[in-house]
Amino acid sequence: MKNFDVIVIGSGNAALCAGISALENGAKVLIVEKGDEKEWGGNSRYTAGAMRFAFESFEDLKPLIRNLDDERLPNTVFGSYTKEKFLADLKHFNEGEPITELQQFLVDESLGALQWLSSHNIKFDPSFARQSFLKDGKHVFWGGLALDVEGEGDGLVQAEMKEYLSLGGVIYYDCPAEEILQENDKIIGVRCTKSGDSIIIPCKTVVLGCGGFEANRVLREKYLGEKWVSAKVRGTRHNMGHGLEMAKKVGAAFSGYFAGCHATPMDKNMPEYGNLELPHGERKHYRKISYLFGVMLNKDGKRFVDEGLDMRNYTYAQFGKAILEQPDNVAWQIFDAKVAPLLYDEYRVNHASFYEAYTLEELVLKIEGINQTEAINTLKAYNEAANLSSDIVFDPTLKDGKTTKGLTLNKTNWANILDTPPFKAYPVTSGITFTYGGVKVNKKAEVLNHDLEPIAGLFACGEMVGGVFYHGYPGGSGLTSGTVFGRFAGKSAALFSKNYQ
Ligand SMILES: Cc1cc2nc3c(=O)[nH]c(=O)nc-3n(C[C@H](O)[C@H](O)[C@H](O)COP(=O)(O)OP(=O)(O)OC[C@H]3O[C@@H](n4cnc5c(N)ncnc54)[C@H](O)[C@@H]3O)c2cc1C
Repeated sequence: MKNFDVIVIGSGNAALCAGISALENGAKVLIVEKGDEKEWGGNSRYTAGAMRFAFESFEDLKPLIRNLDDERLPNTVFGSYTKEKFLADLKHFNEGEPITELQQFLVDESLGALQWLSSHNIKFDPSFARQSFLKDGKHVFWGGLALDVEGEGDGLVQAEMKEYLSLGGVIYYDCPAEEILQENDKIIGVRCTKSGDSIIIPCKTVVLGCGGFEANRVLREKYLGEKWVSAKVRGTRHNMGHGLEMAKKVGAAFSGYFAGCHATPMDKNMPEYGNLELPHGERKHYRKISYLFGVMLNKDGKRFVDEGLDMRNYTYAQFGKAILEQPDNVAWQIFDAKVAPLLYDEYRVNHASFYEAYTLEELVLKIEGINQTEAINTLKAYNEAANLSSDIVFDPTLKDGKTTKGLTLNKTNWANILDTPPFKAYPVTSGITFTYGGVKVNKKAEVLNHDLEPIAGLFACGEMVGGVFYHGYPGGSGLTSGTVFGRFAGKSAALFSKNYQ
């Protein structure tokens, strides 16, 4: 078997970035991927390709944008998303804890990460559909997310794979890694399973890019709690936490928030796992995160969150978890026709589940399993409370302060009255996106042991890394984190291999 300097485990965004980076730093690289030729690419492939990074102005975006002739561009206000804002957004989810070294590194390297991807033929488009609203004839961006990768997550991993292969990288599909092999504390190879056989592939260094434990019911129960056993898995079925187990065996310290994960409201009738067999455009259609323009009721017919607490990128993870805590892990999102054009496209796809009626009472009577009397009372009380802010102008581009008044649980922004038929109710449940706990690394992406010393030749990136996200994350930071740490893991592994004796 050919000798490799670096074995990268996984083929999502983080792993592919590590692979590309190791190759450009002169290493011979093999990727081993658990999925087969149809199912590689991990969660990264399921993403919308939104990437969060710090930028000062349009001048930073310009070199990254694929089509500068887009006629909307002269009429677009991107604003800025400073490092300070990115840090504040991360800190918002730290529950009072200061910014960690890894978070600071993520922010500092975020623009550089996109520039580096761009130098490797990854192209970006402004996120007009998801992150801008038309205001006074201009496309006004909100929430700090300016760009998506061309072709979304699928486009990202396909383009990265093309680059990886063209630089001379090798990949074995259907080849789950089982064990990192060491001799005298030196990495000597990886044991994998290939076509049912256990094989040993020699190497000098290993980069773990094999995701979290979100697809593993046993580990979900162990770390997140019993309720999470029934959560749907939004992405790949392959992220079973094996990377964590392999790392633990060679002495890696764990870090970060193991009791937490990212989850979002999803169509109650979505399959148990993400499904790559659906056309890419339809895959993400199970997500239901336009709740801020309506209200959410649980089985008891009660509201349970402030749907208008903040812009959606700052609340959907939190509300995904909140739904799981409701009876039977279910809720209904209710909208009137006024806001229908503002809902994400996924509310309009053929397989979206919903009820529809011309009055709120009729709508509630159609919803199976809800306490109908309470639901009608809740909606009436909501409308009365929303009416008290009818003088405040509804504005979806910012926190408009259009709040209900006098409810025990007010809706603090975008509290329109539900008064325009037809009314729709979408049944939702909670879908887990990824887990936050992982191995402890430093800024070179070296995996640390319990004495906080690097484990010689072992690196990690992406969801495998703990201590980057805690009680939530500003949407679009996952891919950026994968690229930042993947890029440095690949480089560190290549340099380590050069001095390997
Ligand atoms: C539906 C959805 C939408 C999302 N949208 C966004 C978004 O728009 N922007 C954003 O920033 N983030 C988004 N995220 C989060 C994002 O997907 C992750 O943060 C990021 O993709 C993680 O990348 P990764 O490379 O670490 O893991 P992954 O992309 O999951 O890759 C892990 C890989 O490791 C492989 N693997 C696992 N175990 C083994 C093993 N033992 N041996 C070999 N291979 C193994 C898996 O098969 C997989 O290919 C989304 C996630 C989901 C599920």
